[in-house]
Amino acid sequence: MTVVALGLPSVQRPLPAAPTDGPLIDTFGRVATDLRVSLTDLCNLRCTYCMPAEGLDWLQGEQKLRPAELNRLISIAVTRLGITSVRFTGGEPLVVPHLEEVIAATAVLRPRPEITLTTNGVGLARRAAGLKAAGLDRINVSLDTVDAARFAAITRRDRLADVVDGLQAAQAAGLDPVKVNAVLDPVTGLDDAVALLRFCLRHGYQLRIIEQMPLDAGHAWERDRAVRADDILAELRRHFTLNPDPAPRGSAPAELWQVDDGTGATGRVGIIASVSHAFCAACDRSRLTADGQVRNCLFAREETDLRALLRSGADDAALEAAWRAAMWAKAAGHGINEPDFVQPDRPMSAIGG
Ligand code: SAM
Ligand code: SF4
Repeated sequence: MTVVALGLPSVQRPLPAAPTDGPLIDTFGRVATDLRVSLTDLCNLRCTYCMPAEGLDWLQGEQKLRPAELNRLISIAVTRLGITSVRFTGGEPLVVPHLEEVIAATAVLRPRPEITLTTNGVGLARRAAGLKAAGLDRINVSLDTVDAARFAAITRRDRLADVVDGLQAAQAAGLDPVKVNAVLDPVTGLDDAVALLRFCLRHGYQLRIIEQMPLDAGHAWERDRAVRADDILAELRRHFTLNPDPAPRGSAPAELWQVDDGTGATGRVGIIASVSHAFCAACDRSRLTADGQVRNCLFAREETDLRALLRSGADDAALEAAWRAAMWAKAAGHGINEPDFVQPDRPMSAIGG
């Protein structure tokens, strides 16, 4: 049963001339070194801010890249385009049976990229050690609340215990530091943030709170309902001592704070103000969807179809050139705060967050 179409773009624009070698650069001089690879649009949760209870029009069989096609594109990204960091995401990457195989194929590339994973953590407990053995370096586990009833309300599934077990297994496997990604509920979010930070300090996880963005499949995002970074910071300051982390931020989206809860528990928390304090000027990302489309931004309204090129027999040089042209055309910013902003048709779960 499906109620919301993915709205995959069907129009390709003529690509402008881009450099033929060197880094993966855009016309504003930004260099992409961080590749986000969505392995699937499928998911076993139904987070209210991401997808509808009924699910979506999932990609079918041949629409998806085969493992060999995916490995070839990642190899081009690393060996020809200067990608130094590969993050696997989705949808939910743990529902993909060949996840470990793709990680292992990425880990043998030279120069070896850093390999990371963003997951909802369901089923992670039994996979964490194998993922580490395959070559995974670090992990981000999404968790928006540590209250079981709220977890069930947000994700529409009663799986909090699985996620907590997954976090522990990831830490035990040496996927260090384990990061926890949270998107806050408009009503209970500030309370959840305080409880999440206590939980993360107690277990040695690093919490990163992300402002909700207009990328939900239902296009129901409302600016005034989404919890703002400034309000999160103010609430955390009521319960913890926060000092700016002195480490240089570079292109990292999170503003990092050193935290002390007053009882001896210390750590760091990151706040990602994607909407209220956009960091597009420092963006270093390129994105590859599960159906082989390159996107130069989460909010791009155009894509470049590498799957069609691959399947038409294109050589690596042609794929490289198409990827370069796609990134060359990257816009200055996501435009969420502009009056003419239009949400992309493709939702977060089919892009890869
Ligand atoms: N299923 C995995 C997970 O939840 O971690 C990976 C994919 S999910 C799309 C990646 C990240 O995007 C998660 O941390 C999720 O909370 C976040 N996310 C999803 N929809 C979002 C939205 N509308 N605004 C901001 N972040 C969102
Ligand atoms: Fe699934 Fe992740 Fe979207 Fe939640 S945020 S529905 S876990 S893809």
